[in-house]
Amino acid sequence: MKCRKCGVKAVMNMRQHKLALCKDHYLEWMVAQTQRFIEKYHMFTPQERILAAVSGGKDSLSLWDILWRSEYNCDGIYISLGIDGGVNYSSESQKLAQKFADERGLKLHVVNIKNLYGETVPEINQRTRRGQDKPCSVCGLIKRHEMNRVARDEGYDVLVTGHNLDDEAAVLFGNILTWSTGYLLRQGPVLGADHPGLARKAKPLCRFYEREMAAYAILRGIEYIYDECPFAEGAKSIYYKKILNNMEGDRPGVKLSFYLSFLQARDSGLFASPVDDEAKLLHACPTCGQPTSAPGDCTFCRTIARIPGTRNEPLSDSDVGG
Ligand code: SF4
Ligand code: ZN
Repeated sequence: MKCRKCGVKAVMNMRQHKLALCKDHYLEWMVAQTQRFIEKYHMFTPQERILAAVSGGKDSLSLWDILWRSEYNCDGIYISLGIDGGVNYSSESQKLAQKFADERGLKLHVVNIKNLYGETVPEINQRTRRGQDKPCSVCGLIKRHEMNRVARDEGYDVLVTGHNLDDEAAVLFGNILTWSTGYLLRQGPVLGADHPGLARKAKPLCRFYEREMAAYAILRGIEYIYDECPFAEGAKSIYYKKILNNMEGDRPGVKLSFYLSFLQARDSGLFASPVDDEAKLLHACPTCGQPTSAPGDCTFCRTIARIPGTRNEPLSDSDVGG
């Protein structure tokens, strides 16, 4: 298989695009395509300040690399969850995120949950859920809150995440199985800041397959953490990904068309309904100021208040490491 652009040996064949490319042209194509998606979905402009959520994995570090090469004004945020799982998951992923930032002279905000709130994410989960579940729901709640907080306090215009097409298709599949129209309405490449205290969110990699992201990271020489979070095992999203991968094997391009036709259907109003318009029901949490639909304090503040000795006042600049 030869590169369509220069005729040398291709390293990547994208069957869904009927496109094979050599290393240099592949790396160039990924950067150009990302730029195209940023503009197509009106994600952000070169004048805006961008905060990239990085986990130390291939997707988020590749995203940061692409935005840096495209000369966007983009800093990173790493949230240390305090997850070990026998592989030092949090400390290893933090090291790699920091190394990536240092090598390129980029600014990384590090938020350490244990330092801030006195307990790690698994410990907070033990306390609030009596250790019966995996910490994923508490973890998601805390990550969303901290990313929003730093984006708001530090004046970023937009928060970007490294979700790829496989992630988005799996979430979409799950939401369709339960016809969760509220979630379906809010899923997409960009989510506007529809309430004061919320940052706009964008997913510039949402049209790239996971294998394309892995190829980008490897060909670019980015060091990333190979291990998944130990709590990811058995997650529904992994099961949905397997099903979608089986379909993709038989019908190349099916994941992409599943996602793109969903976006078209959503934009034509298929899921719109007044009861789904949650934004109208939101008010500012009296403690942290972030939007919530819960009466009184938001779920995050109520969760954190259960940790003995937790402060209940707004956080200051010194709570965010540079
Ligand atoms: Fe958090 Fe790990 Fe669960 Fe992901 S898999 S939500 S990182 S605990
Ligand atoms: Zn709150």
